[in-house]
Amino acid sequence: MLKSQLEGQSALVEAFLDRLSLGRIVHAYMIVGPEGSGKRTLAAYLSKAVLCEGKHPPCGQCRGCRLTLSDNHPDALTYGPEGRSLGVATVRKIIEDLSVRAYYGRRTVVIEDGEKMTTQAQNALLKILEEPPEGTVFFLLVRDANRMLPTIRSRCQLLRMGLLTPGQAATVLEGKGISREMAAEAAEFAGGVVGQALRMAKDKGFIERMEKAKRIMAGLQGGMDPFGLAELMGEKKDMGPMLDALMVLSHRDMAEGSSRARDWLAALLKARRGLDQNLGTQMVAETLFLEMSEDTKWQS
Ligand SMILES: [Zn+2]
Repeated sequence: MLKSQLEGQSALVEAFLDRLSLGRIVHAYMIVGPEGSGKRTLAAYLSKAVLCEGKHPPCGQCRGCRLTLSDNHPDALTYGPEGRSLGVATVRKIIEDLSVRAYYGRRTVVIEDGEKMTTQAQNALLKILEEPPEGTVFFLLVRDANRMLPTIRSRCQLLRMGLLTPGQAATVLEGKGISREMAAEAAEFAGGVVGQALRMAKDKGFIERMEKAKRIMAGLQGGMDPFGLAELMGEKKDMGPMLDALMVLSHRDMAEGSSRARDWLAALLKARRGLDQNLGTQMVAETLFLEMSEDTKWQS
């Protein structure tokens, strides 16, 4: 596994490896972070370290590391929801699988989409977290720790995914072959969550939206009629994402020192509130571009 995929998590990883070398890891971790923040990648790395039999885990050389790398480690168990929720049947399967001895000593259990566990499933899991089998380490991956029962939370040590700045996330994206401009836009849009940014950078809808937003901004600066600009915003369902796209561009202008970009952002935020309050789409768009045109006129 590439270290670069763990960008932004180095403090967390190092602390874990320190504890591991001292023999002081706990038996249950809850890895918390939004979708696309790299929870699976982190869990896979930590699991590999736990199962490593070398001196400096994960060494990449030992039997454990080789088995993990080829996805064949019999003591690396992964579970997730079947369909919409993770029910008690899956937890029973976990308990059954753990009733058999581990092959090589330690064992790791990764549970993906933990927030999809039903209350019944969480209660069943609680029993095994209270009396975990020897040498077993649980990694529970959840988007929002508040969706888990307090009793589960209290049994786990929390590992909160470190978020990247949009700049750092953009660098990761560029490393994956995304153009510099698209990487910057998608990373800004996704607030630094690499997985989300990557998905956007490859999404045709997102790319088209950004291009349209750029045409609107160019029209605005070229003195185009506010009502004409409002028409370009499209239907109601497109409005929210279009406002976000315009915000990304305004943020960039602001970072580059544009004084009117701050006023644009204020107008965009107001439009977003209007949309949230169910004001008419056309009125929101027209008010927005009247305001943005004013700001452009006075300050250019
Ligand atoms: Zn190893």
